[in-house]
Amino acid sequence: MTADLVIRGGTVMTPQGRVRGGLAVAGERIVAVAADEALPPGREVIEAGGRYLLPGVIDSHVHFREPGLEYKEDWESGTTAAACGGVTTVLEMPNTRPPTATVEALALKQRCAARGARVDYGIFGLLGQDNLDALAGLAEHGVIGFKCYMGETVGAIPAPDDGVMLEAFQRAARLGLRVAVHAENNGIMQRLISRLKAAGRTDPLAHVESRPEICAVEAVTRAVLFAEWAGAALHVCHESCKDVLPILRAARQRGVDVTAETCPHYLLLSSADMGRLGPVLRMNPPVRAPGHAEALWAGLRDGTLDMIATDHSPHTVEEKTLPDIWHAVSGFPGVETAVPLMLTEVQRGRLTLERYVEVSAASPARAWSLYPRKGALQVGSDADVVIVDLDAPGEIRAAALHSKSKITPFEGFKIAARPVCTIVRGRVVMRDGVPVGPAGWGRPVTPAARAARS
Ligand SMILES: [Zn+2]
Repeated sequence: MTADLVIRGGTVMTPQGRVRGGLAVAGERIVAVAADEALPPGREVIEAGGRYLLPGVIDSHVHFREPGLEYKEDWESGTTAAACGGVTTVLEMPNTRPPTATVEALALKQRCAARGARVDYGIFGLLGQDNLDALAGLAEHGVIGFKCYMGETVGAIPAPDDGVMLEAFQRAARLGLRVAVHAENNGIMQRLISRLKAAGRTDPLAHVESRPEICAVEAVTRAVLFAEWAGAALHVCHESCKDVLPILRAARQRGVDVTAETCPHYLLLSSADMGRLGPVLRMNPPVRAPGHAEALWAGLRDGTLDMIATDHSPHTVEEKTLPDIWHAVSGFPGVETAVPLMLTEVQRGRLTLERYVEVSAASPARAWSLYPRKGALQVGSDADVVIVDLDAPGEIRAAALHSKSKITPFEGFKIAARPVCTIVRGRVVMRDGVPVGPAGWGRPVTPAARAARS
């Protein structure tokens, strides 16, 4: 047999351990993982040159802005950044214009994605104040899960009241879909924002002060209680706060199905950087005081935190650099910088490569019911592969990013590693930092658990 693609001369990170050699692909799937001499010949051969083959990274939290805000990002630019960042599947958030709150809005976004995507994608449906009756249709038409904004953020989607939120969790449980929450207590932060504004504060730290830890602690607690009551599967987005970790551990001990993500900016930056970076680092939730990050790293190592996502939130440089912190919009791009930044920390010994594979690919694939089609390098899985060079010194440069948003708080960060080739279902989509092939190769992913149920 001749395979369509063979990657050889590397080390493959498989669920069973490291395998010296490579893998073979027929069509879109992996058909062999073996030592070089045991691999079949391939029509196309990639020499890995001693580098590591990792399962393609799954980023559970990106904002690609299309439809409606294409001047910030669109599916083609966002997924080009993903491909160049070693990411093979993205899960995209519903705060676009229109928000992904109805079957019609979902269909519109699906058309945009099908046209532009270079990598595979799942699309979140909104769980909002006014669309309870749309949830079943959104599930039917293939959303990966639901997103609930408990606190207002970019897009100004009103937080659902508790009654709506609980009923929506009950419906999500029946539909077999996980609910992702932006967990910040809206009342507390709106009041603090008003007070800080009234006091004339416009400096960057005012943003951090307006969203204290209690906002996260209260909202995660409430979301966990509702999920437990409703029997729903819960996902806590972009956790920044060490005080939430014991809540997650206790919930799991009671049997609540809760997963949680953190992001590179919470692991590598803090409120101490807010003065230096100012509005560029404005993000919801905010970066926390020094000391939170160490606890988040520990949580990532011990499994309290399941995964790394980026909350890729592109805006224009102008929108990000307004001197009044309340006018500078929250968020920055991240889908292209996460893999080099995190692998650099792996090189520093903060995380094993095995655990990195878990938090970047296997664990998100399990949470969103895509495993082992996604998130594993083994026979039968989709051939989603990222070849990484763990000895590639360089630095992060906003100007070199493929996102439309050429601004990052990681500007000038030294990196020790980078993805050098990204493969989605057997097709090379990035080589040596350059996107390869046409847009539109990306396909939608839907949760297998739900497919099995219907
Ligand atoms: Zn987000």
